[in-house]
Amino acid sequence: MRGVALYPGTFDPITNGHTDIVQRAARIFDRVIVAVAHGTSKNVCFPTDQRVELARIVLADVPNCEICRFDGLLANFARQRGARIILRGLRAVSDFEYEFQLAGMNRKIIPDVDTIFLTPAEQYQFISSSLIREIAALKGDVSAFVHPAVAAALVKRYA
Ligand code: ADP
Repeated sequence: MRGVALYPGTFDPITNGHTDIVQRAARIFDRVIVAVAHGTSKNVCFPTDQRVELARIVLADVPNCEICRFDGLLANFARQRGARIILRGLRAVSDFEYEFQLAGMNRKIIPDVDTIFLTPAEQYQFISSSLIREIAALKGDVSAFVHPAVAAALVKRYA
């Protein structure tokens, strides 16, 4: 499959689950743009620049992948970058409802862009950035779920 896939998210921080999705997508599409949301309504743990920087380190060996931040409406960013595909990850049924709604809304706003879902390998299905943050905040070991650079950033953040 050719074309550009836009993978938007908060990536607060990027986990092995996100990485698995990017690696899969990079084998399917010409180019994957990991779009780190700046103006998110979520209460973030890491500032945007650091979320971008960590994603760059983690995904350094995926050649057809680019990491950038985006502000404002995803639809506008997709149009600006010429992406016809929005990529999202699906872990469990619990993700489905929100993702389904998001995909439907994006289709209303930009009908020519489709949302494609990929599922991660089994061992990554239970990983979420919020759980990782929670474990790190309680001084737990997250090294099995994130890249060493992310683990180090979490230790520093919650020191
Ligand atoms: P958002 O705030 O947009 O949900 P996230 O960074 O939490 O941003 O997630 C971005 C995308 O990656 C979402 O589609 C989410 O379902 C997916 N995702 C998150 N964690 C995983 C994982 N462990 N495996 C596969 N997909 C994941």
